[in-house]
Amino acid sequence: MTPKQHQTELRVIVAGGGLGGLALAAGLRTRGINVSVFERDTDLAQTGGYHIHLDEAATGALRDLLDPEPFEEVLASSATTRLQGGDIMRDMRGRLLYRSAAADDDGGVNIDRITLRLILADAVGDALHQGATVQDFARNDDGTNTVTLADGSTHDCDLLVGAEGVHSQIARSLAGRPTSKPTGLLGICGRTTVADLPGTAQRLFGQDSGLAIGPDGTGLYIGYHDPANQAAVRSPARARSVTLEPIYIWGAVLSESAATERLRPLTGSALRDATAALLQDAGWTSPMLDVIAESETDGIAPFRFHAGPPYANQLAPWPAGTVTALGDAVHAMPPTAGMGAATAIRDAADLATRLEAARDQQATIPAAVHRFEHGMRIRGAAAITASLGPVRMIHASATPIGRVAARLGLPIGAALARLRQRTR
Ligand SMILES: Cc1cc2nc3c(=O)[nH]c(=O)nc-3n(C[C@H](O)[C@H](O)[C@H](O)COP(=O)(O)OP(=O)(O)OC[C@H]3O[C@@H](n4cnc5c(N)ncnc54)[C@H](O)[C@@H]3O)c2cc1C
Repeated sequence: MTPKQHQTELRVIVAGGGLGGLALAAGLRTRGINVSVFERDTDLAQTGGYHIHLDEAATGALRDLLDPEPFEEVLASSATTRLQGGDIMRDMRGRLLYRSAAADDDGGVNIDRITLRLILADAVGDALHQGATVQDFARNDDGTNTVTLADGSTHDCDLLVGAEGVHSQIARSLAGRPTSKPTGLLGICGRTTVADLPGTAQRLFGQDSGLAIGPDGTGLYIGYHDPANQAAVRSPARARSVTLEPIYIWGAVLSESAATERLRPLTGSALRDATAALLQDAGWTSPMLDVIAESETDGIAPFRFHAGPPYANQLAPWPAGTVTALGDAVHAMPPTAGMGAATAIRDAADLATRLEAARDQQATIPAAVHRFEHGMRIRGAAAITASLGPVRMIHASATPIGRVAARLGLPIGAALARLRQRTR
């Protein structure tokens, strides 16, 4: 046994208080492990306002990380996928191309990103330091690390976890190169209250969720979200959802070009209108465009899709030690499979369990981190692979052959889908 293992307390610093970092810190606090989270945001309620899908495995990971009360808050504030409509695929005019046989009951939930972050932050309590930007870190000879913040203060720890998302400097420093690159797609996301849409659009979209693909490298995700009426558990006292009436979360996906470059500085109604105009130029029509036209203008935001390599042996390409990383920092992925947060939360649960063994001196910290990183690589690569499928389809629709296929094939596909429905 090394002298290090005789130390009474394991000190963990988490850089980044996003969903993965806060989930880890909540789990460490539940286990009585000393943790500090440094997050550069000063107002967590300013988190981008989209919903997060947590499948059964991620919901189970949260159950493992949180005390019973905050976990009940998650369930009371979430829409269960069991009560939602089916998974569908449409074309650019809203014609149905595919519908899954039944609602996709993956045992999971959909929850507002803001709500989940606030519940996790409460669980972390005074171990979360907001307005604290991690600037640098140094590895000391005794295996500990010293973290320097932008305000010049320094903080020592036995384990440093980089959870600063897609542009993580810690993961980049460990890997010796960026851990992800842009996929060439730009997303523009927003929220539209169902009641604000014309009746025809409301009837068409119903409670379904799915991606529509159009020509010229375009797509539009529309997802139904109603945590108030489709809560996973009825517990009004614990419900904290910020979405109080049914909404559609929408996400336009555009192949990057000079035209999308002009969108990136825009905000609010200017961004909404320019996005709708680009889709219209590519052949999109009502009722698909109605969802964008009636959108709230507050939360609309553009973001570039990044992805890490979809191969386990290329993720976290460093030897295990006393600095590691999780979530988007290691395995960034576009939101096209809705798995980024779920994977970050599963990372957090896995690392918390491994660190419990280190705290109990059943493993050294590097050995615990080694086991964690092995599972993370496999989990991350599988999720990146799933998220890249739709990315390839959207890119293909921008090629000369893809353009023709989209313009001719999508209407034919829609007609076949109608025929299949009639003959059922
Ligand atoms: C529109 C959209 C929709 C999505 N939908 C889904 C979905 O349905 N399901 C799903 O599973 N995932 C979804 N995702 C992905 C998901 O949000 C991310 O994968 C997830 O948040 C990753 O968690 P993370 O903790 O690794 O990183 P983040 O949540 O990005 O957190 C990183 C944090 O680090 C902080 N930070 C950065 N640098 C520093 C620094 N130097 N010092 C201190 N703090 C720093 C940032 O402020 C941030 O809070 C979606 C993403 C987007 C953009």
